[in-house]
Amino acid sequence: MTIFKKIIDHEIPADIVYEDDLCLAFRDINPQAPVHVLVIPKKEITAVDALTETDKDLVGHIFLVLQKLAKELGLSDGFRVVTNNGLAAGQTVPHLHFHLLGGRAMGWPPG
Ligand code: 5GP
Repeated sequence: MTIFKKIIDHEIPADIVYEDDLCLAFRDINPQAPVHVLVIPKKEITAVDALTETDKDLVGHIFLVLQKLAKELGLSDGFRVVTNNGLAAGQTVPHLHFHLLGGRAMGWPPG
């Protein structure tokens, strides 16, 4: 079981900014920008490479939640959505998650 599953089950605390039947959004414990929220499916999926056809609606739903949160959190100037897949990409928690980052100018390419 991952730490994110414990957050989904409300077994450990998190600064939750949004929740519905399919997903949960909470502030990253180690923020890399003034706004840094993680949006995760409640379904246990390890990463992008574990997605299947059955997850299409779920992923689409998560992106609409990301859009709504970006508006609500005041990121009208721009924001970034990041998902790391696998160790080489820097994924540290094996539960699919989308970083919503904003509130500062972003560099490119990412590190
Ligand atoms: P990854 O490196 O896997 O793409 O991102 C995992 C993210 O989860 C990191 O940005 C890390 O700071 C965050 N994180 C890890 N454990 C916790 C936790 O217990 N609570 C919260 N709110 N964030 C966490």
